[in-house]
Amino acid sequence: MRSAWARIDLGGLRHNMARVKQLAPHSRILGIVKANAYGHGLVEIARALTEHDSVAALGLARINEALRLRQAGISCPIVLLEGFFDAHELPLLAASQLQPVIHTEQQLQMLERASGLSAPLKVWLKVDSGMHRLGIAPQQLAAFQQRLRACDNVAGEPILMSHMACADERGHAQNTHQQAVIASIRALTPPSSLASFANSATLIQFPELQADWVRPGLMLYGASPVAEKNAAELDLKPVMTLCASVIATRDIKAGEAVGYGAHWVSRQATRLGVVAIGYGDGYPRHARTGTPVLINGKRYPIVGRVSMDMLTVDLGDDDIEAGATAVLWGLDRGLDTSRDETSEHSDSRAVLHVEEVAAFADTIAYELLCNIAQRVDYEYV
Ligand code: PLP
Repeated sequence: MRSAWARIDLGGLRHNMARVKQLAPHSRILGIVKANAYGHGLVEIARALTEHDSVAALGLARINEALRLRQAGISCPIVLLEGFFDAHELPLLAASQLQPVIHTEQQLQMLERASGLSAPLKVWLKVDSGMHRLGIAPQQLAAFQQRLRACDNVAGEPILMSHMACADERGHAQNTHQQAVIASIRALTPPSSLASFANSATLIQFPELQADWVRPGLMLYGASPVAEKNAAELDLKPVMTLCASVIATRDIKAGEAVGYGAHWVSRQATRLGVVAIGYGDGYPRHARTGTPVLINGKRYPIVGRVSMDMLTVDLGDDDIEAGATAVLWGLDRGLDTSRDETSEHSDSRAVLHVEEVAAFADTIAYELLCNIAQRVDYEYV
């Protein structure tokens, strides 16, 4: 019997990829695969996204992940979203053909002073349009562009980029502010220079910001990036299904407590299922009592605290045996394997969106997906 495993549906990934193309037909796609491809497996996802040139480039935060992709033979353009921090990294970036995002004066100076690079670097230039995380001030843009154009270590025109802070909430005032800043910086750049402003939420909610390159992450993995719509409403398919075996069942009486801290007490006699997954696997410890788990297509509530290796669900008087498969999020194929994917997705009993589980744990889908621990087995279908 297996303990915990993640089933990664590459067909779902391709479907979501096609959705991005449908929604942003005039943009090139920078597929975001940072943090182990949002927990889905860096190399496997990068391979699937680059086959048949589905994405034009891949985006990552850290150099070590980019190098893993190069070692695995992935040859497409790779963008380093955080750029670089040390001049010593520049020869490696040049040799590995990694494209850094420039967002500080220090980085620009390092580029200007570097010598002996094996090739000039293609670079992206990030402007802070209001998120106040990374990026130069809009007033610095013209000077940065001029210096980058004059720099021998830079190949071609830098691609302009910026990031939206609140695109998941369409009506947020910050969106109007950032849109105005983006319009003003676009007016300052020559029409021939390329630009990118849209993550998943932005490309869905603000098509006017799709520009030359879109940068989808979360939606590729089939989770909804927007507050008002779930993945099914956006026609996105969950790529990861997180599963674990029921390893024991037990009957308890009314008034008996369950788990560490004894903080959940059953009001009636019931049957519990002990599921072999816990925070040691990346399942959130803060998932509240009542967080749903799917078994045979039916939802059962978690009761008691999630522990390191196990959690407990209330099975009521259902006849579920040890050995059954529990789905923590994703698609429960156990319900009826004869149905095709379309009907499966339209059946609310058989899908548990990771966003829904995240809400029960006071977090976001991104965190749950990224947190899958190494001991969880992966299978690609
Ligand atoms: N672009 C940048 C600069 C990012 O930092 C991220 C992720 O945080 C993305 C794009 C992808 O965002 P999302 O997963 O919301 O589509």
